Amino acid sequence: MNDLKKTIFWKKNEAHRQVVVLFQDVKEFILNNVSKKNDNYLESSIYGSIIDNSIYHIRSTSILTDNEHKLVSLGKVRYNGSDLFFGLPGNLNVKITFEQLSKEKLLKFYTKVNNHVLEILVIIMDKSSLYLRIDNPDYPLSRINKRSICVIGLGSGGSLIATYLAKSGIGKLTLIDGDILLEHNIIRHVCAINDIGRYKTLAVRDYILRRIPNVKIVTVERDFSINDKYEEDYYKELLSSVDLIVSAVGDHVMNSRINSFAYKNRIPVIYAGTFDKISGGIMIRVDPLKKSICYDCIYSNNVDVEHTEVTDKVIFYGRNVDDMLTQPGLGIDIDLITLPAVKLILSTLLGDKEESGSFTQDIYYWYNRNLPDRKIESFVLYEERRALNKRSECSICSKTKT
Ligand SMILES: [Zn+2]
Repeated sequence: MNDLKKTIFWKKNEAHRQVVVLFQDVKEFILNNVSKKNDNYLESSIYGSIIDNSIYHIRSTSILTDNEHKLVSLGKVRYNGSDLFFGLPGNLNVKITFEQLSKEKLLKFYTKVNNHVLEILVIIMDKSSLYLRIDNPDYPLSRINKRSICVIGLGSGGSLIATYLAKSGIGKLTLIDGDILLEHNIIRHVCAINDIGRYKTLAVRDYILRRIPNVKIVTVERDFSINDKYEEDYYKELLSSVDLIVSAVGDHVMNSRINSFAYKNRIPVIYAGTFDKISGGIMIRVDPLKKSICYDCIYSNNVDVEHTEVTDKVIFYGRNVDDMLTQPGLGIDIDLITLPAVKLILSTLLGDKEESGSFTQDIYYWYNRNLPDRKIESFVLYEERRALNKRSECSICSKTKT
């Protein structure tokens, strides 16, 4: 590197940058309280956080309005009738006009401090811009936004499904799980060590809201059960406007309970789960609106043919699961069944096959082991299955009038 290049290189690094991020609540507070026509005056404290000593997140004008983040006092904002002055720590003063606040998203200023150039970047947040990358004319965002989904079970699979549903634009989520997060959950879960001890529902809610603050989230901190009329009425009311239920509980008894409730109340369900040692997985779609075969019927005449539980041994395609090795990358295997389940959910909700993936069948298996009897030599293989017939004696799906 020659001397001239070196000088330029170091000069660039000497130029400090300070970033001011104005969150939407603060922007709205200011816009609601000042008007360029009235020539009025405003002065308010501002609170937020300082990141990496150079980024100021201005989140609130009141320390009480944000439970989620530890807010510190950042200084004051003043309005003199035409311009806004943000007084921040370290004598950093940022001036923007009323016009800029209401119209701009990104502003850049340069100022000289102690003989070097200071770059000031002001980011004015607009929550609607969060969907900018998917809000194309050909993406059905407004339709997805109106949909409401309930996710039962917020372990490694359910937490990821809920997150991706929010990122796809789902407007409302109801999260049901009675478990709390323990340290051994973390390595396969979206939540983190500082969530240990919290209900999974609340930890996942906060995880999602930190990414997509627009989504409405309702939580229930107990396991789904319909033991009596009171419980049944409670869930009937709670889930009355839900378009679809996702079961990620991975438990046959619980799935059967969800099946009986959802079929009766005409709510479609997607069941997603993995087999022992994540040797494979299954997704099942049951749609009472289309009078499809129910989960109990599928389980009794399809699933257990090849995934048989004999005493305490699980046989997977002729191989004893105890003899199988756990593959490295355990979290990845769960994601492999979870992510297509999100596609199946969206496809079921929207009903258009071309836009959201072609899911013509209601049962999908995936395998991540070679299967000797099937001569499958693939790292991951998805296979669709035709659902078999309803059992004539089934009290859930056979009794419904056609
Ligand atoms: Zn049935």
